[in-house]
Amino acid sequence: MIDVIIAGAGPTGLMLACELRLHGVRVVVLEREEEPTRVVRALGLHVRSIEVMDQRGLLDRFLAHGTQYPVGGFFAGIPKPSPEGLDTAHSYVLGIPQPVTDRLLAERAAELGAEIRRGREVTGLEQDGDGVTVELADGTRLRSRYAVGCDGGRSTVRKLLGVSFPGEPAGVETLLGEMEATEDPAVIASVVADVRRAQLRFGVGPVEEGVYRVVVPAEDRTVPPTLEEVRRQLRAVAGTDFGVHSPRWLSRFGDATRQAERYRAGRVLLAGDAAHIHPPVGGQGLNLGIQDAFNLGWKLAAEITGWAPEGLLDSYHAERHPVAADVLDNTRAQMTLMSTDPGPRSVRRLVSELMDFEEVNRYLTEKITAISVRYDFGGDHELLGRRLPDVKLGRGRRLYELTHGGRGLLLDGTGRLSVAGWADRVDHVTDVGGELDAPAVLLRPDGHVAWAGGEQSGLLDHLPRWFGPATPG
Ligand SMILES: Cc1cc2nc3c(=O)[nH]c(=O)nc-3n(C[C@H](O)[C@H](O)[C@H](O)COP(=O)(O)OP(=O)(O)OC[C@H]3O[C@@H](n4cnc5c(N)ncnc54)[C@H](O)[C@@H]3O)c2cc1C
Repeated sequence: MIDVIIAGAGPTGLMLACELRLHGVRVVVLEREEEPTRVVRALGLHVRSIEVMDQRGLLDRFLAHGTQYPVGGFFAGIPKPSPEGLDTAHSYVLGIPQPVTDRLLAERAAELGAEIRRGREVTGLEQDGDGVTVELADGTRLRSRYAVGCDGGRSTVRKLLGVSFPGEPAGVETLLGEMEATEDPAVIASVVADVRRAQLRFGVGPVEEGVYRVVVPAEDRTVPPTLEEVRRQLRAVAGTDFGVHSPRWLSRFGDATRQAERYRAGRVLLAGDAAHIHPPVGGQGLNLGIQDAFNLGWKLAAEITGWAPEGLLDSYHAERHPVAADVLDNTRAQMTLMSTDPGPRSVRRLVSELMDFEEVNRYLTEKITAISVRYDFGGDHELLGRRLPDVKLGRGRRLYELTHGGRGLLLDGTGRLSVAGWADRVDHVTDVGGELDAPAVLLRPDGHVAWAGGEQSGLLDHLPRWFGPATPG
């Protein structure tokens, strides 16, 4: 029997497939589309997702296809440089078009043994005490132990579960596309700079020689976008259509903001855009989906393998729902700051001035890059619930080199601790160097600190909470 059916081969579904395969879980990904999309939605990875790729040994592949940019300027597009000394080994944004991210993750998932079936649309779903039956558009029925809806903002899985998706509907729609233009590049740049003084939902930026990514408010909300609509809207907003022609692709997106009430209904879970949607300001959606998958993968694998402690799978909702709620909130704030009305413009000026205070800038940057995410594990230690950056360990090793397999890890600077009973799930390293802010820390497979201390008794209180009962003998 299949262990997990994943609906949707977007970045969330593919990242989840990779994580599950690390633990030998049998995964089938069902994707509606026959071919990967050419539409470039996300343009890059923020720090935490870059770290996630590094934690799993995937970063070199991404670096080979991406461009590194400074971290600053993301919050509501306010052009402030990033603060000095972000607490990460990867203080940059990695510019990489979403279809490339999708392809790299699909390649990795396939390498690890996930089966990706394209042209398979999920249309039905039933669950019972033992598993889930998934129905496809062609009438085929598949059975698995669990299923995860990673099928995007209009998620069929979420609708079939009857999970509500409260929030605000789209107020405005925007056209997006890549196309050629006959106008002189210098003229395009100057007109764009001029228009953007009053209209921030607008951009015509070079993708490669003679090809531009065009973003312009949409005119009609129901029909598929056309080149003619793009031209009309460019003329209406910028006074010229720059001679755009030969679109590679055209798309339309809205600014709805919604979040699934529950991320789990029995044996079915939701992740990525299926669980939350928001306008793309700040470039956070894909990152959030990858990080959902990173949180869920090892927990679902533990459930399937049989060692998951009580409540581990439910901690996925408990940890990730508040994180997305916070992203939704910051995008609402950013959208307000990007309005051209006089009140929001005044607030934008004020926020921009406040960002000259290093602490304000740092706070907002850590939010957008997701490195300040802290799960509530209880306890007082400053590190608890946070992810560790890629700290240097002894003998020239780095932490993330030790986490490629997705297992738990005890970093033990005392040399006196033991993971006996859990060694099949948790690695133990004593040569930790001098960068740890605790005698020892226990890391979950997603790199978040589950325990920090120096005594075996404390460790023994926490190992079962995250890694289940000790193996006898
Ligand atoms: C203009 C724009 C710019 C953006 N820029 C950024 C950015 O810079 N940074 C960022 O982090 N995010 C950005 N985002 C958001 C990002 O694109 C999404 O958050 C991301 O694609 C979500 O990934 P996902 O895998 O959850 O869903 P999706 O990428 O939507 O993938 C869902 C998959 O499920 C498939 N599917 C749907 N229904 C079914 C079904 N019934 N059965 C089987 N398969 C199905 C779909 O075909 C699709 O392949 C942007 C979005 C837009 C619109």
